[in-house]
Amino acid sequence: MAFDAEVIRAEFPILGRQVNGRPLVYLDSAASAQKPRAVIEAMTRAMEHSYANVHRGLHTLANETTEAYEGARSKIAAFIGAEAPEIVFTKGATEAINLVASGLGAALRPGDEILLSEMEHHANIVPWHFLRERQGVVLKFTPVTDDGRLDMEAFKELLSERTRVVALTHMSNVLGTVNPVAELTRLAHEAGAIVLLDGCQAVVHRAIDVKALDADFYVFSGHKLYGPTGIGALYGKSERLASLRPYQGGGEMIGKVTLEEITYADPPHRFEAGTPPILEAIGLGAAIDWLGGLDRAAVAEHEHGLYTHVRERLNGANWLRVLGEAPGKGAILSFTVDGAHAHDVAQILDKYGVAVRAGTHCAEPLMRRFGLTSSARASFALYNTHEEADAFVDALTKTQAFFA
Ligand code: PMP
Repeated sequence: MAFDAEVIRAEFPILGRQVNGRPLVYLDSAASAQKPRAVIEAMTRAMEHSYANVHRGLHTLANETTEAYEGARSKIAAFIGAEAPEIVFTKGATEAINLVASGLGAALRPGDEILLSEMEHHANIVPWHFLRERQGVVLKFTPVTDDGRLDMEAFKELLSERTRVVALTHMSNVLGTVNPVAELTRLAHEAGAIVLLDGCQAVVHRAIDVKALDADFYVFSGHKLYGPTGIGALYGKSERLASLRPYQGGGEMIGKVTLEEITYADPPHRFEAGTPPILEAIGLGAAIDWLGGLDRAAVAEHEHGLYTHVRERLNGANWLRVLGEAPGKGAILSFTVDGAHAHDVAQILDKYGVAVRAGTHCAEPLMRRFGLTSSARASFALYNTHEEADAFVDALTKTQAFFA
């Protein structure tokens, strides 16, 4: 299958708009990706044609909607090599990690250790800090090397018989580093730890097989995967989900409720209290169907080509500092411009129609590791073109001139 970004872009209505009188160059997909017509139409179609609450109805619309909702679960499962009952719908990766941390917390004791890394998103730091604050578990952080790799030797040294949980990002949202997660998972399992992988960025750019990775939990959000906001997935091995304490209580997650006691539904419904994000799940299912029609290896090659093109064009720029140069890194360029605050850089780029992110990227410990309070970040997606990559470099060069 050939891949043509120009053809693909036409499927994203928003990409046709102008910003500040210029064609939009959207380089903020690592924060949230734009949506193809297939997703927009699937959600609209559900609302216009077949919508009701799920699971509890005995009428046609309820049954059709339940089928669509559970069908989306099966699509997500197939997408990452899992079985449908191993997929819990959540609001996003953040909620998924909170769910796991809260559930595992029940079995953790003061002095138990959780091993993270310096390159984690706050979503994979703060829920574990709750366990530190509330029940005295100890957090350890694997250091990051100067070129943005996880320090494997330090990881091995930090692992011990006290390590109960290892929670790591598959791909850094700042550095673009792709971690050797199969190897990390193997080492963590050898030490007897439970492994959670944050697949928020990785799932967008590479095929994921959770069985091959052997992670106990794998989480991601729908909105970075060309799907809607408000929906994400938690994969958990069946036996892990079965032993996890429920996260929220309410309708749908119970077996039986009396005034004296309750019993729980089996996973995954045990973790889906209340009316779930039905339309959003259908939208995510449509995004996955849509991605299934693409040659994902060709997409990855295209995205990588954009990154290397930009990197090569900026090679001689002595005013630029790039964060993260790990071999095999993904198409994310985090950078600072000498003498300029990242927020100013982003605001000036916006005048040229170029949308990049600036700030800590919800990774304050990583920023601190590199002696920074903020950086700008251009992230490349399947709908970006070489023309846009050039527009970004040209706009960045002009932006830099303001500060020279
Ligand atoms: N982890 C990583 C690596 C991310 O990039 C993000 C989103 N920036 C998250 C977790 C959190 O995702 P969400 O806000 O969709 O829950």
